[in-house]
Amino acid sequence: MERLQKVIAQAGIASRRKAEQLILDGRVTVNGKRVTELGVKVTPNKDKIEVNGVPIDREEPAYYVLYKPTSVISSVKDEKGRKVVTDYIETTARLFPIGRLDYDTSGLLLMTNDGELANQLMHPKFNIEKVYVAKVKGIPTREEIKKLVTGIRLEDGMTAPAKAKMLSFDKKKQTAIIQLTIHEGRNRQVRRMFEALGYPVMKLKREQYSFLNLHGLNPGDARALKPIEVKHLK
Ligand code: URA
Repeated sequence: MERLQKVIAQAGIASRRKAEQLILDGRVTVNGKRVTELGVKVTPNKDKIEVNGVPIDREEPAYYVLYKPTSVISSVKDEKGRKVVTDYIETTARLFPIGRLDYDTSGLLLMTNDGELANQLMHPKFNIEKVYVAKVKGIPTREEIKKLVTGIRLEDGMTAPAKAKMLSFDKKKQTAIIQLTIHEGRNRQVRRMFEALGYPVMKLKREQYSFLNLHGLNPGDARALKPIEVKHLK
């Protein structure tokens, strides 16, 4: 037995808080009976749950790590017919990405149909560590690398403390490869941090998300998470 609002959230219909509101607003029925109190427990896949008169068919929760190639949209569909991240995973589960990577960014993207986990992981208080490797134009100085660590003023405020390490540089080509580990997830944050320093990003890849990495995967590959990995994420 599980709490009704949790089952609704896991079906990807709403966050848990919004699911509670749906119940309080009288929009949810269980086996044909309207439920307006919180705390009711149900058996998923057995009790018939409807939201606004529409049955929620709870799929088995599914979790994948995708190595997103560049030139792919972090979305489930694209009006312009470009490749989207769901094109890479063969399943009947209605997956969506947790967060997003830019069209030109490659790397690790978690995909799931578990709306509740997605909401949790995207909440700033969860502070998920994300490791990026950027190739930039120009070679930052030690002081500039330190600025990435202590904080950079962007138009939406200072960045939180980060880790930054120069992995290599090419004096002739005037490029550098830098590993940057951040906990925030603002829009185009890594690109904007380097841009603010005067080193435009030429290539960007996310190598890690929390404890998950891309080992054994090539661009376009995906693998299902092991149950212990899912447990560890929650
Ligand atoms: N930061 C960026 O600038 N782009 C991404 O895709 C992810 C993080």
